[in-house]
Amino acid sequence: MFNEGSDFSCPDACERYGCKDPNLHVSISLLDLISISLSSGQKVSDLFEKSCKLGFDPLGEEDPWVGRISLEMQKPCPFLKEKLCSVYSGRPLACVLFPEYDAMVGRREVLAGKKFFQQYPCIQNPCTISPQRKEILTRLMEMSVNEHFLSDFYLFGVSPFLLDVKTISGEVLEGVSFSGEGKAPLPYGRLEDLLLQKMRAGGYLDEWRAKVKELDRSEGLDLLWQTKRVIDGMVGIGGEIEPQVAYQFDGNRLLPIRFCNASLKRGEDWIVRVRGQAEAARRFSPTSLSDSV
Ligand code: SF4
Repeated sequence: MFNEGSDFSCPDACERYGCKDPNLHVSISLLDLISISLSSGQKVSDLFEKSCKLGFDPLGEEDPWVGRISLEMQKPCPFLKEKLCSVYSGRPLACVLFPEYDAMVGRREVLAGKKFFQQYPCIQNPCTISPQRKEILTRLMEMSVNEHFLSDFYLFGVSPFLLDVKTISGEVLEGVSFSGEGKAPLPYGRLEDLLLQKMRAGGYLDEWRAKVKELDRSEGLDLLWQTKRVIDGMVGIGGEIEPQVAYQFDGNRLLPIRFCNASLKRGEDWIVRVRGQAEAARRFSPTSLSDSV
């Protein structure tokens, strides 16, 4: 289904910036890893170690200190061989959808105006998408949202896993030079390194690794599908959830905080859902994060 009705292909002239640029975040779910594992014969846990990182994706420009933690491809992507994707048939949904989905929803024109995308020919040049292909892209995007929900939930015990990093902002900004107006871009590379250090010291990384290792066994995969069925039955997933809980570091441990976002409308509803998720997580994938909600 991935390539059905599509005549899109990466232009030869492109240096594969999207697969190389560390500033372009490519999210990957555990389901994507399973797909690559099936098409390449490599273990899910090996793929996790060799090709993934934990990325911090800020929620918005207004508060760059609050972001979503999720699995991302390392950059340059280890699957890029010269100009070809070596796992093309099982590549992550994010790679399948880029840039066609952006073009379909009218975001390509906006991105084309940004300095960051000046060298991306696939963003600069319009592409034609048939109505049949649009339907497929819409279904793939729904699949992607659901798979990321499940992936975060299985791994972290909550979805989305939001982190407010203000309590470690001093460490992040150490040595950063500010402009005359007192501004400086957030050093995301350093922030992610620091988060990794703290998560390792807090024991979270070992916990998450152990869960991924389970996916090398058919019993582990069964557990993931069971978790999926529970989640599907519990919440209407698909971008409906607006978070009210985020985590902050207290030393190297993560503590839940109430996350205030002016755009929230459903009040306590989300808390109830998070508690429901935490219960399911306790049943199917115990984690210190869900235990503390
Ligand atoms: S998986 Fe393939 S398409 Fe996706 S970033 Fe890696 S090389 Fe590029």
